[in-house]
Amino acid sequence: ANRKFIVGNWKMNGLHDQLSDIGDIAAIASEHKDIDVAICPPTTLIAPAAEKVPDFMIGAQDCHSAANGAHTGCLSADMIRETGALLSILGHSERRADQHETDADVKAKAEAVHAAGLGAIICVGETEAERDDGKAVEVVCGQLEGSFPEEPSADWLTIAYEPVWAIGTGRVPETSDVEEMHAAIRNKLGKLMGDGADAVRILYGGSMNGGNAAALLAVPNVDGGLVGGASLTAEKFGPIIEAA
Ligand code: 13P
Repeated sequence: ANRKFIVGNWKMNGLHDQLSDIGDIAAIASEHKDIDVAICPPTTLIAPAAEKVPDFMIGAQDCHSAANGAHTGCLSADMIRETGALLSILGHSERRADQHETDADVKAKAEAVHAAGLGAIICVGETEAERDDGKAVEVVCGQLEGSFPEEPSADWLTIAYEPVWAIGTGRVPETSDVEEMHAAIRNKLGKLMGDGADAVRILYGGSMNGGNAAALLAVPNVDGGLVGGASLTAEKFGPIIEAA
């Protein structure tokens, strides 16, 4: 089995006062050296967090695909690396919906972060209508193929399966549905990259919490979690780290 990877996505939450929560989370993570733990705070907190907890993994939530240029308000992979981040979440469903990011955009972003020496967590996931239509596996595998970067390797690439309808809703898929999807993603990774596919970690995301984490993390091919709301405090995130 792959080493577990538990990632907190703070989304647009967190002011300077919340650095203490990152400190508390890092302290718990330091007691669990058999797994990897990261927090992706808003960009404004990356540098102060990286300075506060230098041994703890801090990530970004997005990255522009270009190295520089006329892109007002955007940040390049080199800029993100310079803040102290070691990875970036890419293609989160909220960005695919709100910022109209396409699979091709996500692929270009992944290649940019890799070129800068950062890790990438590429997010995929179906909507509720797509699942109801029986198209969840087809949609997710299509997103994966379209978003898939050149030079893929488990050294820098992680996939996160996040059913859109499970994000922030308190609803989680049946264990059997998670198992089916993660197996389909593993199989697709095999077709896309061959031998190295088994080592690529596939995270589950969507309403993961201290109560359901152990069961979700025990599903075959679930190598970790991408956690939103329950990653904002050590009180909520600690039990998920401990469950891994
Ligand atoms: P919640 O854990 O709040 O459902 O969010 C999941 C998510 O979108 C993580 O990226």
